Amino acid sequence: MAKIEVEAGRCKGCGLCAANCPKKIVHLGKTTNQSGYTVAEQTDEAQCTGCAMCAVICPDMAISVYR
Ligand code: SF4
Ligand code: SF4
Repeated sequence: MAKIEVEAGRCKGCGLCAANCPKKIVHLGKTTNQSGYTVAEQTDEAQCTGCAMCAVICPDMAISVYR
């Protein structure tokens, strides 16, 4: 079990993190940031392995992983 945090101001809603999470537990959420982009969020901490694929793939370095 691990947790990710998405820094909302950096996220541009590209969905790369969601597409590359092996557990498919990252999705574009319901909140938008000040630029109007939909912010990614993790939906199931219990399934997260802490692999950091989401953080590595993010072009804007918006994701931090906490193991
Ligand atoms: S890859 Fe980064 S910028 Fe793209 S949706 Fe995920 S957190 Fe946002
Ligand atoms: S750390 Fe790995 S399992 Fe956890 S949300 Fe990111 S890509 Fe998915």
